[in-house]
Amino acid sequence: IEALNTAPDATEVRFEEQIRPQKMGDFAGQKKLTDNLKVFITAARKRGEALDHVLLSGPPGLGKTTLAHIIAAEMGGGIKITSGPLIDKAGNLAGLLTSMKKGDILFIDEIHRLAPAVEEYLYSAMEDYRIDILLDSGPASRAVQLKLEPFTLVGATTRAGLLTSPLRARFGINNRLDYYTPEILQGIIVRAAGILNIGVEEDAAMEIARRSRGTPRIANRLLRRARDFAQVAGDVSISLAVARHTLESLEIDEGGLDDMDKKILEAIVRKFNGGPVGVASLAVSVGEEQDTIEEVYEPYLIQVGYLARTPRGRVATRLAMQRFSHPGISGQGP
Ligand code: ADP
Repeated sequence: IEALNTAPDATEVRFEEQIRPQKMGDFAGQKKLTDNLKVFITAARKRGEALDHVLLSGPPGLGKTTLAHIIAAEMGGGIKITSGPLIDKAGNLAGLLTSMKKGDILFIDEIHRLAPAVEEYLYSAMEDYRIDILLDSGPASRAVQLKLEPFTLVGATTRAGLLTSPLRARFGINNRLDYYTPEILQGIIVRAAGILNIGVEEDAAMEIARRSRGTPRIANRLLRRARDFAQVAGDVSISLAVARHTLESLEIDEGGLDDMDKKILEAIVRKFNGGPVGVASLAVSVGEEQDTIEEVYEPYLIQVGYLARTPRGRVATRLAMQRFSHPGISGQGP
């Protein structure tokens, strides 16, 4: 069975770069967020200033990295990309910051995972565009203050709740990305198919869209697999039948739940009698990291009405109880 929520491998990263929207106009959905961003970008450009720092939060694959690239393109600046766990010393961050030109974007993915010392070092850079650096070492060392070019930090996080308040407070623009509707995902699939030079029937695109867990990355992943099935069959276009065959072969159920989604719900319903169960016990029971359950799986299961968070733990909703209480039928859909 296909794990739908894994991080992209090198091949997929190249593929995603190929189809990644480059302009705000090509970025589908998230209308409120993009409308606001357009205003802030236009205003910053009119003033000749850097855009305020932007925090983007939400589950993986919803377009945070894509938006960071688009913001850089719309601001006419360059972009440097890194991630929280990659910056292990304040010195590394200083190197990045001093290389930024006016209006450039620094994109830090997984910003909630910055080391505390690195994070503190970021504060003055964000606030006043200046940093302290230590010249020499030992008794001769002295700190000098360095002025930075005005830049924009775009931070992305799957866990906005884990950001410290001093860091959060330094973002002027704070946005959350939501799961996409099937209609929007359908449009994303049709557009990507065009770039990939494969036809896709409207109803086939919709079928893939409905089973993509509200996530463009997954929609594109399924499209790529459907293209394989179509091309092996010698078709120039993905039909509804090929789309269905692809989804069945990958064992993706009607609602787009993947293997781990089902495991989680089955565990709560059958092993824990519907809950409440603490997320730590749940994690042990299904053999997945607690963080991953909270960041990747739960938000969608909550959104589609299978799971609820209560102060005493996770509980299965009535919908989940109905669907997952009998072994063996969970793949069948509601
Ligand atoms: P994140 O950084 O949130 O994990 P990405 O920005 O890497 O997600 O998005 C994953 C892929 O999904 C991108 O390569 C892009 O092709 C596609 N994608 C994401 N959001 C959109 C969107 N709004 N419109 C079109 N394609 C999108």
